[in-house]
Order: sequence, then C-alpha cells, then structure tokens
Amino acid sequence: MDYNVNEAGYYGNFGGAYVPEILYANVENLKNAYRKVMDDPSFRAEFDKLLRDYVGRPSPLYRAGRLSEKYGTNIFLKREDLNHTGAHKINNAIGQVLLARRMGKTRIIAETGAGQHGVATATVCALMNMECVVYMGETDVRRQRLNVQKMEMLGAKVFPVTSGNKTLKDATNEAIRDWCCNPRDTYYVIGSTVGPHPYPDMVARFQSVISEEIGKQLQAEIGRDYPDYLIACVGGGSNAAGTFFRYLNDERVHLIAAEAGGKGIDTGESAATIHLGKEGIIHGSRTLVMQTEDGQIVEPYSISAGLDYPGIGPMHANLAKLGRAEVLAINDDEAVRAAFELTELEGIIPALESAHALAVFGRKRFGREDTVVLTVSGRGDKDMETYIRLFAGRKGEGDLKGEEA
Ligand SMILES: *Cc1c(COP(=O)(O)O)cnc(C)c1O
Repeated sequence: MDYNVNEAGYYGNFGGAYVPEILYANVENLKNAYRKVMDDPSFRAEFDKLLRDYVGRPSPLYRAGRLSEKYGTNIFLKREDLNHTGAHKINNAIGQVLLARRMGKTRIIAETGAGQHGVATATVCALMNMECVVYMGETDVRRQRLNVQKMEMLGAKVFPVTSGNKTLKDATNEAIRDWCCNPRDTYYVIGSTVGPHPYPDMVARFQSVISEEIGKQLQAEIGRDYPDYLIACVGGGSNAAGTFFRYLNDERVHLIAAEAGGKGIDTGESAATIHLGKEGIIHGSRTLVMQTEDGQIVEPYSISAGLDYPGIGPMHANLAKLGRAEVLAINDDEAVRAAFELTELEGIIPALESAHALAVFGRKRFGREDTVVLTVSGRGDKDMETYIRLFAGRKGEGDLKGEEA
C-alpha cells in the first residue's frame, strides 16, 4: 500500500484539484513550477541553507525524562517550538516563497486563522523583499491582536475579512478570490496540507524535514532510525504530515493523530473533522468536511485557534479511512491539562495545538520498551492569555473539567 499522493494528486479517494475554470491555469502553472524545483538541487540547497541558518534547524529531538517516567515509556519531543517564529509553519513559508521567487512572482498573499501562518509568511516576505497581503477574518483580527501587530511591523498588509463567520474559512475564500484576479504577479502561500493539488503534497514535502531529522536523530540516540509511535496534532495536517512523511509506508511505525474535540464531539462545539466530517469538497480538495445534511459548512470550535478548520488535509482523511493512522479527538480540558503538565514536568510551555498531541498520553498506554516521538508543533507564547485565565482558576488536577474556554 502506498499512502503518498499519486500522479493525479489523490490520496485514495481524497485530494484532487476541484477549482473553477478561472483558477485552472494558476494551478497548472504552480504544478509545473513545483515539479521543476523539486528536481533542482540548487533549489534544495537554497531551502536547506535557510532552514539551517535562518530557522535554526535541525530542531532538537529531546528525551523528556520526567514525562517518560510518569507514563512508563520513552518519550522524545521533536521541538518545532524552538524554530524562528515559534512553530513549524516557517518551514513551509520559506519553501513556498522561494518557489514564488523562482516563478518570477513579486506579490505574496496568504490566509491566516490564529495568525501564525500570517506571521511566518510576513517574516519570509520581509526576508526576501516581497510585497505581502494577509487575509484574516475580522473575528480573528480582534482575537489575535499581537499577531496582527507583528505582521504589520514586518511590513505586511492585513485585510480583515467581513464575510461569513469572519474566520479562517472566510479568509481562505477571500485569498482564493484575490488569486483569481491577480494571476500574473501573485503567488498564494497556503499554510497547511489543504487546498487543491499540488498544495497538500507540496506543504507535506516542505514539512517532511521534520521526519527526516527524526530518523537521523533517533539513529544517534537509540541506534535505530524509526520509532514505535509518532504523535502529532492535526488542524489542516501540516505538522503531522511532516512528522509522518518518511514513515508513511513503514508499517512498523504506528501513527497517531490528535484532532480537536472542542467541548466534546457530541456537543455541537467541536473541530473533530475526521470523527464528524462527511466526504465533500472544501477549498479545492475532496476530503472530509464538517457539513450539514444539505452541504453547508458547520462552523468548527476549539480552544486552540490553529485547529478549528472545518476540513482536513486529504492525506489524513485517507490515513484515517484506511486505518493507517489512529485518530483521537482530544477535548479542550484534556489539552489544557496536558499543557500544564508539560510545563510542570519539563519546563516547556507548549502551544495549545501541540497540547492536544500531548494529551494522548492521558488516553493511551505505551510499553516500557516503546519509543514514542511527539512533535511539539509550537510554543505557548501566543496562548498565554488563555493559560493565565485558566491558571487563576486552577486548584489541582482535574479541576479544569467543564471550564469555559
Ligand atoms: C497552525 C498550527 C497547527 C495546526 O496546523 P497543521 O497544519 O495541522 O500543523 C498546529 N500547531 C501550531 C503551533 C500551529 O501554529
């Protein structure tokens, strides 16, 4: 079984490029340019050099001793939180803006929800002297002021989107509209393994540096280049795709994805797309979508802004459908508890998104001999307001249950 993308851009039944005619040429041009650069050693060299000197890669693979002891297994944390700008998103932003430059584009557009992808893209645009426009739902602009200010300081123009629910889905629609109207000079940087082919594959490959490094680092640490388990959180799926990539077809490695259960998958306030979604098309890709009987998108909810997308990358829809990946829906309270636990035991404050992956240890037992690698996708700085609010009302283990997000 091959779990990677096929020639036509599909992962099993999922993926493809369902775009209106007006976007067809843009997507074709992108596909051709992408193919060309991936075969070009000079592109690879430029990308690798920036990952090393600008992002700070390789990110450490850290053996979390106290966490391992608590759960009776061997836990290694892949520290994407230590990257420049504080998360994995910069890996992809660098890859795509480099590609844009080779395509002769001068203007970059991006969508953003919590603002993390917007900040990463604005950062790389400053570095490469590109014009940068970021579409962001008006609701998110209000909720994520610091990231908006960062983007503006970095020289980007942030466009508040007022349609729909004024969140990520609406920002994405607006970015696609812009791309339609400005095909000549504009490149659209998508921030996760979503959108029409070749985006999911391209983002997965730019993020696959995560699993390449895991292999080398494990070899040095434990004398073999694969773990027994890999754990990552999934919003659109890019940090998980990067974590799994090298091991997709290596069935010795169990893959575990943590999606956002919100207040619980039966509460109507959830972002657990793999549990709740039905097959449909969103933003140019055939995948699982949270939708009503008549195909209207259901607004997702999660305490973490980076995980509340009503779709899911086609790679992950396929891995889940075929049983290759185990998917757990982690609720807000479990994630918050896991974030405080990592902070107390290891002195690492994780992003709320990454805390969903960490909460897997509260759900599932691992063996004493197992090697478990978990990707900490980002750091918790951006979530401090939430943590502080919850910390004030926190008296002990378990007290967070039912806490209002
Ligand atoms: C954006 C984000 C995510 C979710 O996106 P994926 O594409 O699923 O990786 C997870 N963690 C952090 C820190 C993020 O910023």
